[in-house]
Amino acid sequence: MRRPRNSNLPAPPELPSFTVASDPSEDEPADIAERHAGTGLERHDAPLDEDLIDPDAAKVVRRLERAGYQAYLVGGCVRDLLLNWRPKDFDVATNARPEDVRALFRNCRVIGRRFRLAHVLFGGGKVIEVATFRRNPGVTDASEVEDVDDLLIRSDNVFGEAHEDALRRDFTINALFYDLDRRQVLDWCGGLDDVKGRTIRTIGDAAVRFREDPVRMLRAIKFAARLDLGLHPVVYDAIVANRHELARAAKPRIFEEILRLLRGGAAHRSMWLLWEMGCMGVLLPELSALLDDVEAMEDGGERFFKRLTALDAKFRDEGLVDDVTLMATLLYDAIEEATTGVRDPNGAMLDYLDSLVERVSLPRRIADGVRRIMTMTPRLLQGRVGRAPRNEYFVPALDVLEMVLVSRGESTQLVDRMRREAAPAQPAPAQGRRPSAWPRRTPRHR
Ligand code: ATP
Ligand code: MG
Repeated sequence: MRRPRNSNLPAPPELPSFTVASDPSEDEPADIAERHAGTGLERHDAPLDEDLIDPDAAKVVRRLERAGYQAYLVGGCVRDLLLNWRPKDFDVATNARPEDVRALFRNCRVIGRRFRLAHVLFGGGKVIEVATFRRNPGVTDASEVEDVDDLLIRSDNVFGEAHEDALRRDFTINALFYDLDRRQVLDWCGGLDDVKGRTIRTIGDAAVRFREDPVRMLRAIKFAARLDLGLHPVVYDAIVANRHELARAAKPRIFEEILRLLRGGAAHRSMWLLWEMGCMGVLLPELSALLDDVEAMEDGGERFFKRLTALDAKFRDEGLVDDVTLMATLLYDAIEEATTGVRDPNGAMLDYLDSLVERVSLPRRIADGVRRIMTMTPRLLQGRVGRAPRNEYFVPALDVLEMVLVSRGESTQLVDRMRREAAPAQPAPAQGRRPSAWPRRTPRHR
């Protein structure tokens, strides 16, 4: 396997220690002791860092429990806490139905048609997502479906038990539940061992799970890159073998996942894996061909990955980078290649961006922003600022340019000077438009 030349892997975080708990202690109320009897559950004492647990998420769990329901922290937040990362959001799973949750919280709305979820809202735009336990579709028993008339639409939204909710998830490390009061991790599929072994493994047959939902392949790459975990060899091979299935997935989901690969501070490693495993060849074939042809483009491949390293550094220093800047940084060489030596560079750029609108649902707004940045950068590179500071994409263009210069090992003084000089001329952000870098909750899938 080829290795990235500039990966700058961070040292792995230290893991908290966990012990396998004995069965629930005798002084535990009978209903708790009985809760998951016969489901193959392993409980582990895992005193996670309370300071990293969102107090509002804890409040939601405790109120549900006091009302007699089961409620756990689940998914990404448990995984991140175990790996000593600060979770970016907190999800709760419960046996309460969405309406039951709404009845308990004034600040709650039920969202979604296919996947009905409760969102409990707190100050500062914080949302704690509360999902009712579901099980994998497949077995459909009409009595368990919310609305029998709507069986088809809701056939993948079948309520289930806690252990079924764990097993429907994608990777073992994403299927751990945290019992706040007992400070225990509940594990039905060996996820804790995989956290300790820093391994990404699917729940069930990898090829089947990837064919069921090809976006999971991109999620595997994202977790490997962002959390510095290894893909289990079976998972790795299954992605390589099934990468063509990505062409079947819902395009907006694919695009959202590409943004997540770029966004989380591990763009370099994510794109390396995407390329090396052949997934980039399915989603962004021109870019992939360009990297494959690295000999022909001399040190172009190196420049591409160095630019992504600069993007990761920007995320670390300044936080979320907006979507237009992300895409311009990713596509810079591909667009340069498409527009070099042709009679109508603008037309060629439009054609290329149109092909991405078609293939990966690149939103028109982002395509237009990328086009405007790419039209500005050649002049800026020559130090010709002109009217550019009045362009709403001037600052993103300077950001992209800075990363381009860093990737070429050139001085960024030019960008610094243009930034200083243009500062007062910057237009106020357009009213009523939400910068795309703002955090948001995207709908859950499966
Ligand atoms: P992140 O830190 O990026 O939010 P996450 O694991 O929390 O990572 P989400 O997209 O927020 O990812 O999903 C929450 C949980 O829902 C996951 O941890 C996983 O258990 C489950 N999940 C999400 N997407 C899928 C999917 N495509 N197939 C199966 N389970 C999924
Ligand atoms: Mg999440």
